[in-house]
Amino acid sequence: MKYRLAVDIGATRTMLALVDVGSPRIVAHDRPYTETVFPGNRPPGHSLADAVRRFLDSQALTPESVIGVGVGVPGLVNQAIGHVLACPNLRLLDGTDLGPEASEDLGLPVFLDNNTNLIALGEHAAGIGQGVDDLAAVWVGSGVGSGLILNGRLYHGADGLAAELGHTIVVPNGLQCTCGGRGCAEMYCSGKALSLVAEQIFQPRELFQLGTRFAGARLVIEQALAGHERAHQVMVQAFTYLGYALANLVVLLSPRMIVLGGGVVKAWPEGISIAAEIVRREGSVEVPRDVLIVQSKLEDFAGVMGGATLVELEVG
Ligand SMILES: [Zn+2]
Repeated sequence: MKYRLAVDIGATRTMLALVDVGSPRIVAHDRPYTETVFPGNRPPGHSLADAVRRFLDSQALTPESVIGVGVGVPGLVNQAIGHVLACPNLRLLDGTDLGPEASEDLGLPVFLDNNTNLIALGEHAAGIGQGVDDLAAVWVGSGVGSGLILNGRLYHGADGLAAELGHTIVVPNGLQCTCGGRGCAEMYCSGKALSLVAEQIFQPRELFQLGTRFAGARLVIEQALAGHERAHQVMVQAFTYLGYALANLVVLLSPRMIVLGGGVVKAWPEGISIAAEIVRREGSVEVPRDVLIVQSKLEDFAGVMGGATLVELEVG
């Protein structure tokens, strides 16, 4: 029995999954902390190979059972050569030849792409977007990631860097973004954005008790669900900004479907209808676009499903 192996590297957790060849069945998965996958004592490609071997060991398998490895990276990637150009959420991957290093170490083909590109691929191959040939996946978590399927194929753009919806501008001269720009969408609707607002509406004591990164975002969502009026307004505003970013996307590309996912959408799905209403209002030029805005069903598994699909496309 042969499998496809997929790895979805996240800022906090990394998912590894074994997927059947020829069917989208996930046979096994694991979700170790990313800092245990990349402890920093070896070049990242070798650490990745170690993590793959540990995962295969746990399933009583060896690399010989695998036809290839598809890896999603939370950053900018040169897919053709498996090189990580920049990885703002995991700086130790910056400028590394993650693909070739891991490939040589494992003796297997290893393919890399941006993580939300792979999410779009996963939704198209095995998710709610199955068979939808013009599709955008937009993931609202700590940041805002996106991926595009156009004419049935993943769209990378001229430099392989397309589909950075989170860094399109929704407020001219707005908040300073971590990318160096100002007024980017993710500064207004992501977990990062909610954490900034949390510092204005909650006491430092309430936030301090929660401790972890982006805990402020969770507090805003929890309180919005519990009926806290200001927190609810903040969520409505965040999904309104998301709606404007999606409206621009719809006017530009006219996708048939936008699949929404990620921690913020999962925790507050009622925001989807708010964003959809903005798209309905602002996303038509003369003729309304027939676009479905839906929540992912694959959710956390969309990325590994995309990684497995990448292997299938590359290895066959
Ligand atoms: Zn930005």
